[in-house]
Amino acid sequence: MKTIGLIGGMSWESTVTYYQVINETVKEKLGGLHSAKILLYSVDFAEIEEYQSQGEWKKSAEVLASAAQNLEKAGADFIIICTNTMHKVAPDIQKKISIPIVHIAEATASVLQSRGIRKVALLGTKYTMTQDFYKNKITETGIEVVIPDDDGVKLVNDVIYNELCLGILKDDSKAKFVTIISDLQKRGAEGVILGCTEIGLLIGQADVSLPVFDTTLIHAQKAALLATE
Ligand code: GLU
Repeated sequence: MKTIGLIGGMSWESTVTYYQVINETVKEKLGGLHSAKILLYSVDFAEIEEYQSQGEWKKSAEVLASAAQNLEKAGADFIIICTNTMHKVAPDIQKKISIPIVHIAEATASVLQSRGIRKVALLGTKYTMTQDFYKNKITETGIEVVIPDDDGVKLVNDVIYNELCLGILKDDSKAKFVTIISDLQKRGAEGVILGCTEIGLLIGQADVSLPVFDTTLIHAQKAALLATE
């Protein structure tokens, strides 16, 4: 079995899900007492969030590249960055290590393709929704991406940083997410990407009719399958 190197803590609320889903998937595949070989480097998210909000992406890349190098030295066979947003600096991290990074948006795009989705809604941080580093990975496969209007982008982003990353789950925010998703459905979306690793803590397939693509589950399952291949 391969050893998975997780860069977590962004936020730790969703890293918990990664740990659980990877182990559940390995157990399902191998049975018995099997569990995943995981190395976790969990960062201080306050430091990363400060760099994000100041636009200091290079500095955040240095922190994560150092984490990745440590995981490689410790014996990881590949790297999983447990956040969508920080894939903005995935190319910078990849340059510093010789093991591969399994990209969250590439994993998601391939699931969307297998489900025949042609137009998809994307929810995530403002960086993920409005910048190109993430959307391009989806559009490159021929799938169109739609995001909420400016008010919706602000609302989703605020809920992520002020609630979900702090472990706060509010019914009111859930209802607002459901409304935003239904608006995106009216604009032609055939599915919705939960493109922030904490959104799945708030809403899931039971809350909306549109097919839900939870990046945390997709990424964690992909990691487990690669490790047991
Ligand atoms: N976990 C989130 C994501 O998947 C947001 C936190 C972050 O900025 O890394 O994008």
